Amino acid sequence: MHRIVKAPAKINLTLDVLRKRNDGYHEVEMVMTTVDLADRIHLTVLSEGTMTIDVDKGFVPSNEQNLAYKAAKLLKTRFNVQEGVHIYIEKNIPVSAGLAGGSTDAAATLRGLNDLWNLGLSLDELAELGAEIGSDVPFCVYGGTAIARGRGEKLEHIPAPPPCWVVLVKPPMGVSTKDIYGKLKVDSLKHPDTASMVEAIKEKDFNRICKELGNAMEEATFSLNPEVLNLKKRVKGFGANGVLMSGSGPTIYALVQNQSRADRIYNGLKGFVDQVFVVRLLGSRHE
Ligand code: ATP
Repeated sequence: MHRIVKAPAKINLTLDVLRKRNDGYHEVEMVMTTVDLADRIHLTVLSEGTMTIDVDKGFVPSNEQNLAYKAAKLLKTRFNVQEGVHIYIEKNIPVSAGLAGGSTDAAATLRGLNDLWNLGLSLDELAELGAEIGSDVPFCVYGGTAIARGRGEKLEHIPAPPPCWVVLVKPPMGVSTKDIYGKLKVDSLKHPDTASMVEAIKEKDFNRICKELGNAMEEATFSLNPEVLNLKKRVKGFGANGVLMSGSGPTIYALVQNQSRADRIYNGLKGFVDQVFVVRLLGSRHE
């Protein structure tokens, strides 16, 4: 038995850090949505019970460190599954980019194996298990658009933003989320207005969405990597409606409503940065 599951990336329309908690995590509030840039997870059931993994890009771990492998292992042990699985990942989402690439692979593996191993779990149950693997995994289990609170695992689903194009630009360096949290000055952050962003989304007001884009982690990432700030300025210079860094970066994205403008930004950046993508905002939940 074989299945291919699509694992889309997310972007942050807002990312706010409220405080550092006693357990070491940061309390966050963020609006996240899915975009049509996806890894493809090939799952093949192995009757002999072994678990193996392979990835088409050398720099992603193809061992028990891979979050997709961890997701499979969690299901297998928790539900005492006798069958095994071979996982093959076609990696299209840039790594250590702020796009939740690893988390979405884990979430897609949970969804796919729930079917292939006939576990009959609900999305809510899969999301709860996903939180054991990583804070962004529950969001990726559902996809769509949501406000995420707590350490990112507490979700409130909201409607999809109006359709638009997203130009994603990933500069060559990777950014470790842990390093950026270490660098954050929690008392002097620029906070986005989450409530206003949510209103703008509910009103399907594209211009207001662009105006409310905000990420409290930008400054910390920019101070470690000034090139990311330069890239943001460059993308703005191409006339995008709204431009922001996703997650802890370093990916910068632009939202635009017409394709010719998206193409213009793409063409302007292509010679300058290797990884540039023009994709649709997905925004609605997995079925
Ligand atoms: P986030 O936005 O959630 O912080 P990210 O996009 O910044 O995530 P990832 O691409 O998920 O970062 O990768 C972070 C780390 O996780 C990398 O060091 C990578 O080696 C490891 N990793 C484990 N499994 C995967 C996977 N399936 N895909 C990508 N990276 C993975």
